[in-house]
Amino acid sequence: MNYRLGVKTDVGRRREVNEDSFLVHEPLFVVADGMGGHVAGDIASSTAVDTIKEQSPSASAQDLNTLAGLVLTANSRIWEKSQSDPTLRGMGTTCTLLMLDSSKAHFAHVGDSRAYLLRGGTLTQITEDHTLVGRMVKEGRLAAEDAERHPQRSIVTRALGVDSEVEVDLITVDVVEGDRILICSDGLSSMLDFDSIAATLNEESDPQIAAERLVDAANEAGGEDNITVVIIDMGTGSQGVAASTESGRTATAESPGAMGGPAVAPSSSEMTYAGAVAAPPEPERREERKAPAQDEAHDEPPAPRWRRKLVVALVIVVVLGAAAIFGVRYLLGNSWYVGVNDDGFVTVFEGIPEEVAGLSLNEEIEVTDIRADQLPGFLGDNVADGIKKDSLEEARSHIAILEEQVEVEERQRDSNRQRDRNNNTKD
Ligand code: CA
Repeated sequence: MNYRLGVKTDVGRRREVNEDSFLVHEPLFVVADGMGGHVAGDIASSTAVDTIKEQSPSASAQDLNTLAGLVLTANSRIWEKSQSDPTLRGMGTTCTLLMLDSSKAHFAHVGDSRAYLLRGGTLTQITEDHTLVGRMVKEGRLAAEDAERHPQRSIVTRALGVDSEVEVDLITVDVVEGDRILICSDGLSSMLDFDSIAATLNEESDPQIAAERLVDAANEAGGEDNITVVIIDMGTGSQGVAASTESGRTATAESPGAMGGPAVAPSSSEMTYAGAVAAPPEPERREERKAPAQDEAHDEPPAPRWRRKLVVALVIVVVLGAAAIFGVRYLLGNSWYVGVNDDGFVTVFEGIPEEVAGLSLNEEIEVTDIRADQLPGFLGDNVADGIKKDSLEEARSHIAILEEQVEVEERQRDSNRQRDRNNNTKD
């Protein structure tokens, strides 16, 4: 099927670096949103798109497993990089990969970037957000509308490169002429609500102009994060992007929006988008498969405590019996805790909160804005001792809870102040 494209990435209004990456490499389209601070997030997302481009299969070998393989290979590359360079520890990226195949759209997805389908004027989110709030919505503990504004909405529970393995969602959707697919980073979806994204996609028939309008609107709404938008209109243009590859890795501070140009020249085809959307929306076939050799219960804590203890015990034996250095490295690379750094800020550490012969056995991974003295007594005490976690994700989830606690405290203080003021006025 023919298609027309619109592509735009922008650093947004608050960030100095664009850590999003995208790839347009027929018939593959990728949006990757890196995280990890400084340059690490950028390296994570660009490694993802570079690996996918490099490993992209020949047209005859495309199936969902091949697609999953691309994402798993990208995961390994990022993981290996982060293990070999301490400054890249903890980096990761989302990855939403689309492969078009005549009348089908295949997606491989990890993280909180999103793919949507617009058909007959109705917008549907195809991917599921791998976030803390996404999980709460799925479990019925939070309304979808509240999730859009939730302060912890950007905490992802699954990302490429943060572990040696990752679970990949695989989804296939039948596409028909007139369908419009949007892939975007959360810099769009966290700034604009579902209805305004749908409205812009419905109003603007030119995919490139639609992409630019969405990015502009996200910036007008605050532009708090990097914004990347890829729009593919099915059956409304000349054949694809033959021989065209474009990837946007670093729309850097000196060239914000440098990747904003159309990835391909818009088609001169006269077939209009509005005329092609007669088909009523039908429930798309959603085929979701786990990637091969993945842990079914990845979201759950990785191992029961006794097994972890056993592993630690075994490691100690290894340490005693063989190379001490190897043992220390193992502990450092496989343990996390939430603690307080020297400046008094709550921090995720990799390693253990111990020192041996003046050598600290931990490393700061993510420093939060929460000061330890902002936390109510018992929570502050616990954090000061270091709260062990089985994975980086669990440590981040714990941070989310602490952030919530700080907010609750602040609200409480505000309302107390308000009440005091009211009482004074009455007196
Ligand atoms: Ca982002």
